[in-house]
Amino acid sequence: MTNLADGSKPTFSFEFFPPKDADGETRLWAAIDGLKSIAPDFISVTYGAGGSTRDRTIRITSEITAHTKVPTVAHLTCVGSTRDELVEILGKYREAGISSILALRGDPVGGPRAPWETTPGGFDHADQLVSLASEIGGFTIGVAAFPDGHPASAGDFENDIEVLLEKERRGATFATTQFFFEAQRWIDLVEALRARGSSMPIIPGILPVTNLKQFNRMAELTGTPIPARISEAFAKVESDPDAVRNLGVDIATNLSQQLLEAGAPGIHFYTMNTSTATREIFERIKGSR
Ligand SMILES: Cc1cc2nc3c(=O)[nH]c(=O)nc-3n(C[C@H](O)[C@H](O)[C@H](O)COP(=O)(O)OP(=O)(O)OC[C@H]3O[C@@H](n4cnc5c(N)ncnc54)[C@H](O)[C@@H]3O)c2cc1C
Repeated sequence: MTNLADGSKPTFSFEFFPPKDADGETRLWAAIDGLKSIAPDFISVTYGAGGSTRDRTIRITSEITAHTKVPTVAHLTCVGSTRDELVEILGKYREAGISSILALRGDPVGGPRAPWETTPGGFDHADQLVSLASEIGGFTIGVAAFPDGHPASAGDFENDIEVLLEKERRGATFATTQFFFEAQRWIDLVEALRARGSSMPIIPGILPVTNLKQFNRMAELTGTPIPARISEAFAKVESDPDAVRNLGVDIATNLSQQLLEAGAPGIHFYTMNTSTATREIFERIKGSR
């Protein structure tokens, strides 16, 4: 099994989502092509709300593995699936040559702050999916971490730490984070985990902001707080798309540099299926590798 982030050198990795149509797929492959020169350490592919992209996640993830030879991580959520169905999906991942997963609960159908709906015969928490994948064996298992706190945890930082420790005990070997803007939040999370004996690499997730409408929608959808200094800086340039993009690249570059200096095991970029901003940031931080 590949160790995706053993801490020996910072990794650079990219997240893509399965496109809805042929045009989106063309854009996705152009983005993957545009990032080839960076030689990513791994690429992850998301799993749509309610399992809506299951077959596309499997297909795209295995095609990326076949065409790029870059290790891939397929996301998997518990939403709307029974345990037996999750066993079947993990079997399909394995048949497709996918050996790394990001084990997630998934958001409730009504959004991150909506009440969770139990699927009879299914799982209520990601730690159960970690256990299942561990029992089946043969998977490198990653999980989600939240430097700004899990949106459903109402600020209970201690509980978030306990949840991550439990996932590690059940077999998770790395975590990637939700996007965030204050390096100190990642440092606090990692220090709290290390103080409790965790050695799991926590790879920070970075969102290069290139489009304000898309950014605000993502922040709303994921429940990620936007610090005032960030929203004020964007407000000053909001009528100029190029200035927004340049500011987004600067913010992501500075944050990545701070995190690498603080000992981050890598940077995971939320690419939004495009490559240029990510490539620009990488060019500016690659010396830190
Ligand atoms: C890097 C990353 C990638 C993501 N990719 C996707 C994706 O591809 N598709 C998608 O739909 N969503 C994705 N998400 C969103 C994620 O599914 C949601 O944020 C979801 O609400 C939480 O998932 P989780 O795995 O943290 O859940 P959990 O760990 O189950 O946590 C959910 C809530 O339950 C609590 N909790 C956890 N375990 C227990 C327990 N044993 N007992 C009691 N309470 C518990 C937690 O404190 C938290 O409040 C991603 C998030 C991140 C950070």
